[in-house]
Amino acid sequence: MGNFLKGFSSENIECLINNFLKLILMFWGEKKHLKAEKSMPKAKVDENLCIGCGTCEAVCPGVFKIDPEKGKSVVISEECGDCNCQEVVEACPVNAISIEE
Ligand code: SF4
Repeated sequence: MGNFLKGFSSENIECLINNFLKLILMFWGEKKHLKAEKSMPKAKVDENLCIGCGTCEAVCPGVFKIDPEKGKSVVISEECGDCNCQEVVEACPVNAISIEE
């Protein structure tokens, strides 16, 4: 190890250590992100119950949209950054929305 570092100045060594630490933090952050993605809840709409009132789309437009042909709500994205869809589950008047962990 001593021979390996012989040609490096203290600034170079400090820079190497800082970059190594940054790599570890990036890797750690990515692992946390993947873990969060895995545990992200997924919304489901029971089309047999949905009456197409549009409440879910109004509360969480990033996840729910009323299909104009069916007149029912469909899930367009599994990502809900704000409410984790719990608000929408409670707002649906016919309990057509469920969340799968
Ligand atoms: S809130 Fe419920 S009933 Fe209204 S559109 Fe959404 S899923 Fe259908």
